[in-house]
Amino acid sequence: MSKENKKPILSINWQIFISMLALTLMFITITWAFQLAFLNIIFENVKENAMERATAHVEEISSYENFSAQLDAISKEQDISISAFHFKSTDEIQTVFAQDGSIFIESEGNEALLQSWFKSAFENENHKYSPSISGELITVIVADAGEANDIDRTWYMIILNTDITPPVGTIVAVRAMHTLLSFIFVIFAVVVAFFLSKSISAPVEKMSKKAKSISLCDYDVTFEEKGPKEICELAEALNSATGELKKLSTTQKELIANISHDLRTPLTLISGYSEVMRDFPDEITPENMQVIIDETARLNSLVNDLLTVSKLQSGTQVMDLKLVSITKAVSDTVKRYEKLLDHKEYNITFEHDGEAFVMADETRLLQVVYNLINNAINYTGDDKQITVRQEISGGIVRISVIDTGEGISEEDLPLIWDRYYKVDKVHKRAILGTGLGLSIVKNILLLHGSRFGVSSEVGKGSTFWFEFKVEKTVKNDVGISQKKAE
Ligand code: ADP
Repeated sequence: MSKENKKPILSINWQIFISMLALTLMFITITWAFQLAFLNIIFENVKENAMERATAHVEEISSYENFSAQLDAISKEQDISISAFHFKSTDEIQTVFAQDGSIFIESEGNEALLQSWFKSAFENENHKYSPSISGELITVIVADAGEANDIDRTWYMIILNTDITPPVGTIVAVRAMHTLLSFIFVIFAVVVAFFLSKSISAPVEKMSKKAKSISLCDYDVTFEEKGPKEICELAEALNSATGELKKLSTTQKELIANISHDLRTPLTLISGYSEVMRDFPDEITPENMQVIIDETARLNSLVNDLLTVSKLQSGTQVMDLKLVSITKAVSDTVKRYEKLLDHKEYNITFEHDGEAFVMADETRLLQVVYNLINNAINYTGDDKQITVRQEISGGIVRISVIDTGEGISEEDLPLIWDRYYKVDKVHKRAILGTGLGLSIVKNILLLHGSRFGVSSEVGKGSTFWFEFKVEKTVKNDVGISQKKAE
């Protein structure tokens, strides 16, 4: 099986749950690792800063009155152990202040060490010395006690010290807090995953059920546009897709019904007349034969129109654009109709001013003119008046085909260009046309990039028009004269 065809095993719920849990575990692991790796470093850093601040405070002491109280305050504020000793020149050491817990509380064994620290600090220019002892941070400060004359000076030695490894209690407390936090995070992740998966997967599951019914050609489903933004957008897209599919399926059904109806009518007539003429030789009359010829012609034009529409819509039709006299094309079509309608009292006039040349596929252009004039003849009023008008303005030539018929209502106007659209459902086309004329007109004009349209007033008539860009004009009539445009 190829990789793309593999169905995912996990549901969206499990995917969200596992992702949330993985995220939480990652977070917990990182914080544990941080605590193990950096707690000591951070603790040491904090203590170093406290030591710096305490040293600065001690150095700022200017009066030795309440000396112990001042040292005690600094020690408590910075959490640093402080001891102070009084040195005389006779090397006699006397403790003046020793905080509880200090390692330097006066003791016999420490005296030598204290002497050496005093010496080291004393010899340093800034009277400060930092002995290095592992796990401890120590600063020794020597200050003039200022209590005796030059020969018999007295000094204070202040020792600040602190542990730089976190106390065991602190480590245990931090770990306990971490364990508790980890539990809280896991529970939180489970709760969030539950609600998240509910809000995402529930609408998706509903949608997938409905989408399955579309594949069974049930287009009456509506997708709820509720939930996160992407789900709403998906529902909207699916709703518009089902709408289109529904329209398509209706059009397809209508198309098949219309085509079969239109094919059946002439076929019934042909077979009916043929049978009558076979069974009753008296009925073999020119009139009856003419019916068969007419109906065959009708079938022919219907099949031709269907082929034209399908070719135009499939995009396989290539336009053979040439410089064409649109005025001559219209005039010739009008003349042909005049002859055809001679004995039927139709009055068809062509109004124009000058001759206009356009870039067009002549055969297709003639098809447009033919279809529009044909419709005008079919739908015009009792006065049987049809006017074809050519107007040139601003480099554009507009051809209008005007009739005085019953017109088209406003709601039907945008729809008449569709294949097989009938204004009234009374099937007039059997006599009048194939129902594909305007669809052919629209597709040809679209391929030419032309503007086109219709204006119509119910009871008064319709004006169908289209426009072409003028390439060239000739002022004089070239034997195509009808009436001058007003
Ligand atoms: P048809 O063969 O039915 O004329 P068309 O595609 O040419 O098919 O036209 C579609 C519909 O538009 C017609 O059935 C008719 O109802 C309406 N129509 C077209 N031309 C006119 C017109 N000049 N006056 C009134 N209605 C028209």
